[in-house]
Amino acid sequence: MSTKKTIEAIIAPPPPHMVGDGFRVHNFFPNSRLIDQQRMSPFFMLDYNAKVDFSPRKEPRGVGVHPHAGFETVTIAYHGKIAHHDSAGNSGIIGEGDVQWMTAGSGLLHKEYHEKEFSKNGGAFQMVQLWVNLPAKFKKTKPKYQEITNSMMGRYNLPDDKGVVEIIAGEFKGVKGAASTFTPLHAFNARLKKEASLEFNFPKNYNTCALVIEGSIKVNEENVPADHFVLFKNDGENFSIDATDDTVILILSGEPIDEPVVAYGPFVMNTWEEIEQAVNDVNSGKYGVLEG
Ligand code: MN
Repeated sequence: MSTKKTIEAIIAPPPPHMVGDGFRVHNFFPNSRLIDQQRMSPFFMLDYNAKVDFSPRKEPRGVGVHPHAGFETVTIAYHGKIAHHDSAGNSGIIGEGDVQWMTAGSGLLHKEYHEKEFSKNGGAFQMVQLWVNLPAKFKKTKPKYQEITNSMMGRYNLPDDKGVVEIIAGEFKGVKGAASTFTPLHAFNARLKKEASLEFNFPKNYNTCALVIEGSIKVNEENVPADHFVLFKNDGENFSIDATDDTVILILSGEPIDEPVVAYGPFVMNTWEEIEQAVNDVNSGKYGVLEG
């Protein structure tokens, strides 16, 4: 018999801050009183750019050259388009409804901007950047990208045209996600029509959360408005979502990585020695070079 996964907290969006001049984000974790660096492991950070209108601009807004190492960045675009370039010569565009799963691993330099045409026209911009930690044995893995377009995601269609669950990673009701991951985790976009209901079931020890991207829902009978975040307790397996409006919900659940976490800026490691090594590697050009 599975038991109910109850709600630990429903969290309103914290005051936003700018990342470069292109991303206006609410940081739901870590660094909050409720959610420290281990609480959502294997997920380390979640920055949410709630829907905001950017005015047209010829020179794209964004964030300039910076390193990452020891984890993965997952960029989920809901509105607007993002362009990226890295020190290995890779570049690409993350379009509406698409996901970029970047394994920084042993380290790279990159920059992230609004895509040129989007920037020229301006308009609604909404995205999530999630950092997924890597266990010690994969921290030095070679950097790689998974460009997951919307059509590549697994799809579970609700009966009576009541919506769809897009499976980015993991598995939902036997449908597999598109991303390969280093530790067991699930990442879904549930796009539900008003009055649709759905049950979710994850192991008790998996750290689990939901973020309401559009519309409003009830979770286990509790109202959760748009842009709010639901943190679940590790006390059971099941929870229900009832759409009280047409809605989009990001749902994350993963097996915790049971290792020490030492984080500094764009690096997430197991020890301070590894942080120092990463800083030295960037300074000595080991991550390559990228023009601003
Ligand atoms: Mn970055």
